[in-house]
Amino acid sequence: MVTHSSKWTIATLGSHSALQILKGAQDEGFKTLAICKKGTEKVYKQFGVADKIITVSDYMDLLKIQDKLIKDNVIIIPHASFIAYIGPANIEKLKIPYFGTKSILEHESDRNKEKKWLEAAGLKLPLIFSKPSDIDRPVIVKFHGAGGGRGYFLAKNTADFEKKIKNHEGKEYTIQEYILGVHMYAHYFHSPLTGETEIMGFDKRYESNVDSIGRISARDQMALPEEQIDPSYLIVGNIPVVVRESYLPRFLEMGENVVKISKKIAGRGLYGPFCLECVITPEGVIYVFEISARIVAGTNPYIHGSPYSWLRYDEPMSTGRRIAREIKNALKDDKLKEVLE
Ligand code: AMP
Ligand code: AMP
Repeated sequence: MVTHSSKWTIATLGSHSALQILKGAQDEGFKTLAICKKGTEKVYKQFGVADKIITVSDYMDLLKIQDKLIKDNVIIIPHASFIAYIGPANIEKLKIPYFGTKSILEHESDRNKEKKWLEAAGLKLPLIFSKPSDIDRPVIVKFHGAGGGRGYFLAKNTADFEKKIKNHEGKEYTIQEYILGVHMYAHYFHSPLTGETEIMGFDKRYESNVDSIGRISARDQMALPEEQIDPSYLIVGNIPVVVRESYLPRFLEMGENVVKISKKIAGRGLYGPFCLECVITPEGVIYVFEISARIVAGTNPYIHGSPYSWLRYDEPMSTGRRIAREIKNALKDDKLKEVLE
């Protein structure tokens, strides 16, 4: 076993949070590789985060070059684009060393399994309506798959739902209670080496067009055609947030409980970075409407560390770098098997 980080290469697909992952890996002494789709290499060259770039015409080509990557001591770090483009079924079969518990992905992507997991962890979830006729309050209708929130719509009752769903024939969807409150995305890192769940930071999202509707007056909103004024949730960026300090104990406990339950449902359980996607109501109730069981792009504003990672580490510690640090610590203690699949 090669135990020095310089003998290993940390790799990911060139999108989502790759800049941060690769920069963090370099800072920890690893070599880095960006697997880019033709046309996207420029960015990874410009910022100097990739020691090597492999250009592919299709991200799936990763599967064809696996043996070569294994020989080169490559470790793959998954992110949302990685999961969207390679797909959970292929990830399950991936032979390249991979940072994370693969079997947790099905608990993240299957809404029933996700619900069971989060409820067992004692989290408060928005109600799910299994039939449109059950809708008795405002709901958000979410389409399955990695669309990034595009096309989601709000409905105030069953009739409104029936009218709006006509534009989405054949798509699979979930009807969820709409929670009115502020959104807060809590970023965590669970270390299998120390057994500790760390708070890494928080963000809120910048979504089109929902974050622009409030910029025009109600009079002007009324004047717009319905299709333009219907809110949609296409994610285009992330904004850093610091949470009210007295909420931190609850957030920490939520993260710890999610990890605890994950160990009962999927192999070694959830480790590495993850995120709880929350809405906080005016009563201070924290609802969780989603979990991301891997690095989220909301950590991208913190490439030089967040206020929380600064408190803990006193050196720049992005979530990307925290991943590389965990792998480096595992190498040092000859525990690489505990952090890779
Ligand atoms: P992309 O590589 O940007 O086309 O994104 C691929 C997948 O990753 C999509 O499912 C997106 O929803 C997700 N994704 C990309 N960027 C973000 C972000 N900033 N926040 C949340 N999800 C994202
Ligand atoms: P998701 O694809 O589940 O991450 O949701 C995309 C966006 O829809 C979120 O960033 C929120 O702005 C909004 N959203 C999702 N679920 C809810 C909910 N239950 N209540 C209010 N807003 C929500």
